[in-house]
Amino acid sequence: MKEDATPAYEAFRDELLSHGLLISMGVDGLYGRSGTFEHVVECLNAAIGAAGDPDEPEIMRFPPGIGSLQLEKSGYVRNFPNLPGTVASFAGSDQDHAALLVRLANGEDWTGTQRPTGVALTPAACYGVYPVIASRGRLAAGGALVDVYTWCFRHEPSIDPARMQMFRQREHVRIGSPEQVSSFRALWLGRARALVESLGLPVAIEVANDPFFGRAGRLLAANQREQSLKFELLVPIVAEGPRTACVSFNDHRDLFGRAWAIATETGDTAHTACVGFGVERLTLALFRHHGFALANWPGSVRNVLGL
Ligand code: ZN
Repeated sequence: MKEDATPAYEAFRDELLSHGLLISMGVDGLYGRSGTFEHVVECLNAAIGAAGDPDEPEIMRFPPGIGSLQLEKSGYVRNFPNLPGTVASFAGSDQDHAALLVRLANGEDWTGTQRPTGVALTPAACYGVYPVIASRGRLAAGGALVDVYTWCFRHEPSIDPARMQMFRQREHVRIGSPEQVSSFRALWLGRARALVESLGLPVAIEVANDPFFGRAGRLLAANQREQSLKFELLVPIVAEGPRTACVSFNDHRDLFGRAWAIATETGDTAHTACVGFGVERLTLALFRHHGFALANWPGSVRNVLGL
C-alpha cells in the first residue's frame, strides 16, 4: 500500500504560504503568487523558450479559454469528463434577476441561475493550436511548429501545492508527418532532460498515461503505455511524497489530425506531438531543492535562469 503523503503535502504548502511565495485564496489548488515566485516563473519560462528558439517556432498566445465546441471536438470531454471547467453566466430577464436577489438574500445557492456561455477553460496549452492550424488548410512540406504558453484549468482540488487547479503550461507543438513528429519528441526528450538537470534537479523520465476516466479509460491508458505514447519527466517535490510530473512528452498519433481534418502536404492525416512544461511545478521543485532564498541557490542554477 502506498504511504499517505497528505501530511507532507500540507507541510510543504504551509511552508510556501509562510514564506509568502504562494498566497492563500481559500480554495484548494488556487493560489496567488508572490513577486519572487513570479520572477522565477518568468526566468524559467525564458529558459524553456531559449531551448526551443533555434527551431524558430511560430509563437501563439491565447487567453485561458477556448470554445466549448473546440473542447468537445478535441475529445477532451469524452476522455476526461471530470477535469474541464466551463464558463457560465447570467443571461436572464428582470424577473430572473429578482429571483436571483431573493436567493442571494436567503443565502441560497445562486449558481443555478447561470447558463453556459460557449466558453470553456483551457485544459492544456496545445488545445488552442489545432483548430488554428486546421483553418489554414493543408500543411507545408515542413509541417508546423508552434510555441504556446497558456493558463490551464483542471478540476483537481488538492492540498498538494504541485497539483493546482489553475496553472501555466509552456508547450511546443509539432504537426506534420509521423517522422517529423517522432523526431521532434526525441529531440525534446534530450533537451528537457538537459535543461532540468542544469537546474540542479534530480530527473527521471518514465512511460506514463493520461488520467482517462472510468472503466473504458483503463483500456485507453493501458494502450497508451503499451505504445509508449506518453513520457513524463519526474522530479521529487514533496520529500516523502511520490514524484511529480514536471514535463510531459505526448505523441497523439493522428488523434487531433482526424478531429480537425489537418492534412499534410501529401494529403495524409497529420500526426501531432507536444512537449509541455509545468512552470509552477518546476518552480516549486526549485524552491524545494535549493531553498526559499534565491540568493542561496547554486551559482550554476542562477546562471541558467539569469537570476
Ligand atoms: Zn499538449
